[in-house]
Amino acid sequence: MAGDFLAMRCAGIVYLVGAGPGAPDLITVRALKRLQAADFLLYDALVAPELLDEARPDAERVYVGKRGYCVGATVQGEINELMIQLAHQGRAVCRLKGGDPSVFGRGGEEAEALAAAGIPFEIVPGITAALALGSAGIPLTHRAAGQSVALVTGHFDPESPDCTLDWNALARLTCVVFYMGLRHLAKIAARMSDAGMSPETSAAVAERLTSPDERVVTGTLADIAARADDAGMRAPALIVIGEPVRCRERLALAIADALSTPSASDA
Ligand code: SAH
Repeated sequence: MAGDFLAMRCAGIVYLVGAGPGAPDLITVRALKRLQAADFLLYDALVAPELLDEARPDAERVYVGKRGYCVGATVQGEINELMIQLAHQGRAVCRLKGGDPSVFGRGGEEAEALAAAGIPFEIVPGITAALALGSAGIPLTHRAAGQSVALVTGHFDPESPDCTLDWNALARLTCVVFYMGLRHLAKIAARMSDAGMSPETSAAVAERLTSPDERVVTGTLADIAARADDAGMRAPALIVIGEPVRCRERLALAIADALSTPSASDA
């Protein structure tokens, strides 16, 4: 009896799955398979709604998003507990997150909680938002632009003690991408320039990459905050600071042309 009980408790599994940056067809084949196999779906705000239709018709779908800087949101501990409970009930749970689960997605924390509870799990990578910049004409590691790129959280107010970023180190890099930083854009740009980065350095704000509403505003470190403000840029958006942004000017026209040809538009 005890053996049966234990077997029943361990029959479940959790898939920590990346849904990609926005467009529903930018999910990976493996991620789609796990989504279709699951009988319980826990999904985040940035997941394309079309993807929810890919789950089994009988799968339960529960929204556990944490948009708006965690205000009025499902707290992380509750999500961990829910996943553990469901797995103990023998469910196959798909925890579907925007982008990649392990890039500013708390996939690591969730995996640790599952491991500690003895729950089998699998992490399925996804295309993180920064990698979608390439399709907007910002090739992060263009050879002419530099030899590195840093993915950084801009979530914390640069003036608050929660922000532990080393601005001097960041200002020496050739390309820096900030996630979750839009509301602190002016302060982030000021910190980078105070730390020695040229105010003439190219910069961009990229909103809703790979979605039909994608918008990109470019400028320099000195004026990007004002330009983004004028354009009314909103989250989800990335801030990119560095030479690769210049490429967009050269590529943007060609990309627009390619998208308007019938063969490319519904590939
Ligand atoms: N795990 C996700 C990141 C979650 S943090 C990933 O790998 O992409 C949420 C932040 O990601 C947003 O505030 C924004 O900075 C960025 N982001 C997510 N999707 C985006 C998109 N389509 N366009 C621009 N930025 C995006």
